[in-house]
Amino acid sequence: MKPFDKCPICGGELVKKEVEKLLRGGRHTAMLQVQAEVCLHCGERLYSQDTVRYFEEIRNKLNRQETSEFQPLGQSFKVEGKWLNKSLERT
Ligand SMILES: [Zn+2]
Repeated sequence: MKPFDKCPICGGELVKKEVEKLLRGGRHTAMLQVQAEVCLHCGERLYSQDTVRYFEEIRNKLNRQETSEFQPLGQSFKVEGKWLNKSLERT
């Protein structure tokens, strides 16, 4: 099933790509590789309904702390934003 032939945002061309997706549920984050249609022009990502349903499932599991079937991938940290807006630099 392919609901879009062109990007719904800008009308650009879509290509099938493997992308990294971050999902958040509760205090947890999960990273996964999924197939998406990616716009060559604006970078918009489109996922199939099955993939979106799968995202929901994973978010629910994260919310319920059911993380035993996931591989641990380091820890997530929160950085307090006190250095923001000090100066602009190219990195
Ligand atoms: Zn686009």
